[in-house]
Amino acid sequence: MKITVLSGGVGGARFTRGLLALVGDEHPVTVVANTGDDMWLHGVRVCPDLDTLMYTLGGAVHEDQGWGRRDESKRVSDDLAAYGLGWDWFTLGDLDLATHLARTELLRSGMPLSQVTARLADRWRPGVTLLPMTDDEVETHVVLDDGREIHFEEWWVRHRAAVPARRFVQTNLAVSSPAPGVLEALRDADVVAIPPSNPVVSVGTILAVPGVRDALATTDAPVVGVSPVVGGAPVRGMADACLAAIGVETSALGVAEHYGRRAEGGILDAWLVDEVDAPAAARLRDAGWASRAVPTLMTDVPTTARIAAAALDLVDRQP
Ligand code: GDP
Ligand code: CA
Repeated sequence: MKITVLSGGVGGARFTRGLLALVGDEHPVTVVANTGDDMWLHGVRVCPDLDTLMYTLGGAVHEDQGWGRRDESKRVSDDLAAYGLGWDWFTLGDLDLATHLARTELLRSGMPLSQVTARLADRWRPGVTLLPMTDDEVETHVVLDDGREIHFEEWWVRHRAAVPARRFVQTNLAVSSPAPGVLEALRDADVVAIPPSNPVVSVGTILAVPGVRDALATTDAPVVGVSPVVGGAPVRGMADACLAAIGVETSALGVAEHYGRRAEGGILDAWLVDEVDAPAAARLRDAGWASRAVPTLMTDVPTTARIAAAALDLVDRQP
């Protein structure tokens, strides 16, 4: 069974770790990662979602944070600050910085991001084929009330999403191409999973890479999603602020209807919701979806493996 996952950072990485614990090495998993959060920061290329996936699946992540390296230090940042330089709003730990320097060197040698990612993953052995959604430089920006446009990471990390986002714009996205292997991974999959990732700035960005939505609509594989919204709120992060900006209600039902059912021109066949959202599952079943309510808090790996099992079960795929 070939499994393809469309992932953002922390939510997608944790889900995939549970999925791997469930399916072992017998079933190849390909993860297509959002790269809309990527940015150039003082000359180094930072790819937050790819790195969160690589560190989480490679066993190097800072567990409590959910991103970055464990046993991290920030001597370089501190020393730069002594010059009045550096990254004043973005944390770049010393070990993490090595990843960005390595990536930047390889990119500057002319290697496309997909090959760079494979090269970095050689070290971390994430147990999946890790693909950026595109090799092109795409950036998600947030348009503020005063018309100013800032990088998504600046809105999220510097402003803690506290200034209202009027809308999101994605530079270059409409003219980007899927990275090698992305469309094939959707076409040849036996099941596609949309983990509990941000529906707007993670999954929404991947879906907007030309060709991806079409590949999802036409693949023979069933597509199952897990709701990132539990009881009317995101579990962590700012999905509510993002959903509000695109006029979608922050609820398990709202996100399902936003993605839509494949039979009606959407991208999903099935939607797994949290046990507290059982009424949403019932309404979706009435409307022809496959849906079920189970505990979906990814508190540890065995629990997350059960969530992944429930998702596969919903589309009749058993490892
Ligand atoms: P990011 O790139 O780091 O923001 O990560 P993602 O795009 O993967 O999105 C994180 C999303 O996952 C948020 O909308 C959270 O609400 C959701 N999420 C995080 N932890 C959990 C969890 O344990 N259970 C569920 N159902 N959703 C979660
Ligand atoms: Ca992200």
